[in-house]
Amino acid sequence: MDKIASQADVLVEEVDCLCVGTSIIVSLEAIYQSRKGKKVLMVDRSGTFGGAWKTVEIDGIRDVENAIHYFMPDAKGIKYLGEELKWPIEVSKRKHRYFKIFGGRNVRFKYDSVIGRFFNTAFYSGQTRGFGPTLRHLFKSIYDVTTQPRVPSMYVSSGVAGIIHSMKTLLSGHEIDMRFNTNISKIFFDLKNRTVHCEIGDKTVICNSLILGHGARLPPIESTDGSLELTEKFHYRPAFHLVVEDDYESPSLEVIFSQDRLIKYVHDVTRFSSLSKFPNDKRKVLVFGLHSDVSDSKDLPNELFKKLKNIGFLGKSSRVTASRYSDVILPTLYDEDLYLLKDKFGDLVNILRTESLSLGVGYYADNWKS
Ligand SMILES: Cc1cc2nc3c(=O)[nH]c(=O)nc-3n(C[C@H](O)[C@H](O)[C@H](O)COP(=O)(O)OP(=O)(O)OC[C@H]3O[C@@H](n4cnc5c(N)ncnc54)[C@H](O)[C@@H]3O)c2cc1C
Repeated sequence: MDKIASQADVLVEEVDCLCVGTSIIVSLEAIYQSRKGKKVLMVDRSGTFGGAWKTVEIDGIRDVENAIHYFMPDAKGIKYLGEELKWPIEVSKRKHRYFKIFGGRNVRFKYDSVIGRFFNTAFYSGQTRGFGPTLRHLFKSIYDVTTQPRVPSMYVSSGVAGIIHSMKTLLSGHEIDMRFNTNISKIFFDLKNRTVHCEIGDKTVICNSLILGHGARLPPIESTDGSLELTEKFHYRPAFHLVVEDDYESPSLEVIFSQDRLIKYVHDVTRFSSLSKFPNDKRKVLVFGLHSDVSDSKDLPNELFKKLKNIGFLGKSSRVTASRYSDVILPTLYDEDLYLLKDKFGDLVNILRTESLSLGVGYYADNWKS
């Protein structure tokens, strides 16, 4: 990396590409640029690698998924992850949908079963009123589930820990500089000299291409052409972790709840975590995706625990040993914000559509193929 002292005694670094963050998609693009011979620097304001896909530690258990993770169906993206990156992709096991029916009872269907998909489409998506529209909606639901192909849910058998390990191994084979706890606090586009000047800590990094996705949190942007303000959009997706002692073999590992006021999704991620190495440890670690309006409260762990016991996800004699609520926000930029940057700054920005991992990988897989 070139380092030259400027007149103001501030260190100036020059690179070809500066990546905002270390998410999976941004890392794959960084590797692609490095293979093309570009000098790449990745900076992340967080202390850990992986962006939205990282692992956390809870109750001494390591390698726990930080939030609910899954792959959206995308044949191209998933093929790339399996064939090129050699991720151990598999059909999600014991994944179910739970529906609340009359009398508050729950029924369980396999995630991709015809009946489960029918229930979901007919009764839990699309609001209809009146006899005629309801009947039409029911017939359309039957038609849709019987004619559309079953798309099974896919995931990696090694969980996020495996994904992170794979990415770090890949990156280590390239000369890519990575810095953590490093925030990009100012961005200036010099449209005359075709360079981008970014302040990171007490340094200025000058690059020819700023690489970013939807999760970049950008400071106000200045340019030789004036300033540009992007409005961040905040969508809350609280996550919750529950550690329980339980030696019951549950019929489900993953559950999607329909119309529960707290839970959208729950996943038993024990098999991906460090607990998998200790078969005599009877703890399980569960991660929840909660509805956006659910805030932390003293009763929350017990409410969530009781719901899981009621549906038979946890055994009758299970007990909670630890819990944690986390504020999670979805990436704050939309496609339109990224396109605005592209329109204004051209090849000085390299925008990546990162709203979903598998879809995003699908968009760029052809470029990235080895
Ligand atoms: C918790 C969570 C779970 C998700 N789960 C899934 C899923 O299961 N499946 C799916 O398809 N999609 C999921 N998504 C969608 C997600 O948007 C993509 O998977 C992808 O990770 C987005 O990549 P990104 O680079 O845009 O942002 P992120 O992954 O959020 O990474 C951005 C990184 O940039 C860093 N950063 C931001 N601004 C700056 C700055 N100014 N200076 C320095 N560093 C900065 C951040 O610290 C962060 O590490 C999830 C999103 C979130 C938030």
